[in-house]
Amino acid sequence: MTGSASPSIFTRIIDREIPADIVFESESLIAIRDIAPQAPVHLLVIPKTPQYRDVVELAAGDPGLLAEVIATAKSLADEHCGGEFRLVFNTGESAGQTVFHVHAHVLGEGEGTQTLTEQTLGD
Ligand code: 5GP
Repeated sequence: MTGSASPSIFTRIIDREIPADIVFESESLIAIRDIAPQAPVHLLVIPKTPQYRDVVELAAGDPGLLAEVIATAKSLADEHCGGEFRLVFNTGESAGQTVFHVHAHVLGEGEGTQTLTEQTLGD
């Protein structure tokens, strides 16, 4: 449950120690463009609290905050990719998780382009 000893890259972004392209911010969440996009639209929705390592911990510890992450993903998808999106929570190293501060990947096509490939973030 507890965060790691040193602040995660996302906490450093939230604290404005590292720059990021911020597309949304509220009291509890921040959303940024992924630095290495895997789809035409690739956003990360990140709870500000460093308390939860992954979505399983978040669901158990604060289901309301998880619901907020999902509602924000939908709003961002409405704004950036026509309301349709893939929501990915990598959970564990072998599943591709590299940052252990829970975050949702919101993946989508730009307006009027083709469909996402099946392998997006699924390699
Ligand atoms: P994970 O692999 O943990 O599911 O996702 C971490 C994501 O964070 C990756 O898609 C990676 O590209 C992104 N990322 C890592 N460092 C930074 C950064 O400094 N800035 C931004 N905007 N994204 C980052």
